[in-house]
Amino acid sequence: MKRPAKTRRTFLQAATAGIAGTILQRARTASAEPAPAIRIEEPFHGAVLNRRHGEEVDGGLKIRVCGRGPLQQAVFVNDVPAQRAGAGFTCEIVLRQKETEIIAISQGPGGRQEHRVRVVWDRYSQPRYRFSIDDNSFFLRDVAQKNYASLFDCFYLKGLRDLHSKYGTRFVLNIYYTTGDGFELPQFPDRYKSQWQDNSDWLKLAFHAQANLPDRPYQSVPASQLIADLDRVAEQILRFAGDRTYSPPTVIHWGMVPPSALKPLYQRGVRVLSGYFRRQNGAWDVNYLLDDVRSKYLSCHDALMDFDSGIVFSRVDIVCNNTPVDQIVPTLEPLAKDPNQAEVMDLFTHEQYFWPFYSNYVPDHFERLEAAIRWVTEHGYKPVFFHEGLLGGPA
Ligand SMILES: [Zn+2]
Repeated sequence: MKRPAKTRRTFLQAATAGIAGTILQRARTASAEPAPAIRIEEPFHGAVLNRRHGEEVDGGLKIRVCGRGPLQQAVFVNDVPAQRAGAGFTCEIVLRQKETEIIAISQGPGGRQEHRVRVVWDRYSQPRYRFSIDDNSFFLRDVAQKNYASLFDCFYLKGLRDLHSKYGTRFVLNIYYTTGDGFELPQFPDRYKSQWQDNSDWLKLAFHAQANLPDRPYQSVPASQLIADLDRVAEQILRFAGDRTYSPPTVIHWGMVPPSALKPLYQRGVRVLSGYFRRQNGAWDVNYLLDDVRSKYLSCHDALMDFDSGIVFSRVDIVCNNTPVDQIVPTLEPLAKDPNQAEVMDLFTHEQYFWPFYSNYVPDHFERLEAAIRWVTEHGYKPVFFHEGLLGGPA
């Protein structure tokens, strides 16, 4: 990913979406279509629910379903009669499957009305964290040029290994095909392959992009270009680091892909995509082009399932290169107190800030990582890889 900056293209896209929205609004008004008579407001369609969202009972998770429906009519939620108060209804149901369809039905003089949402039960959920580093390419060039005896003679990989040794942290490094100055992955030797494999329980490599530039490389290109770039990087990772080191991507550069890319990404093994899901200059950004409603939900929740593709979206909780050491704990602490954000810590940074030659070099970058990792470790979060299980937990 990258620090988002407004481009003319995003402005134009936002403006176009705005016009389309206005036209749609007018069309709805003109047709005088009645508003949906019944609507489930909670849980949210695609919500990933864990023990913090309900009560564990008899092998299931009891949750509250609430919404609005026609006045003075009986409402049933998965055949359980709901309590009514004015237009509102509430009902408790028990989730017993990994995925559950929740159907609210009302029956009255106006006929039968229904609304459906689908939710995921993170049954074996436990507090967990992942550490993902974006925009990697300089360390590969360094190792290839210096021809080190060991991968960990490179200070960057050594620093990550020190954190792993101390805290058990697992890292996934999201890499480019080229540094853009002549170094490309085919130049990286395969003589470290056994060392990669020996460390693959905590250190993995994943595709991130072809190169650092252009910005937003996959935002408005055909999905086939993204998949072709992914395949080229994957082939190289498998060649020089082996299959145990390979991870499907969990972050695409700039966090923007066309919706048509999601199913092909799932077919390449992608199970989670992390983004910022934040509002910038009036538009949701670094949000994989999800709609506003889902982007807003993700801005204050750990995760959301996109059932069409099978991919779970995760909100990045901290960007270490942007967060001074003394702000690391104040950034994480409130999240741990919010049931909607406490279970999964998505820790994140960018490689370039480790390098003294980089214009925005952060000298205490490793201290920032350690402050975040120490805090999650002391608060019981376990290190995971997002491409495994459900957000790194047992599925
Ligand atoms: Zn990136």
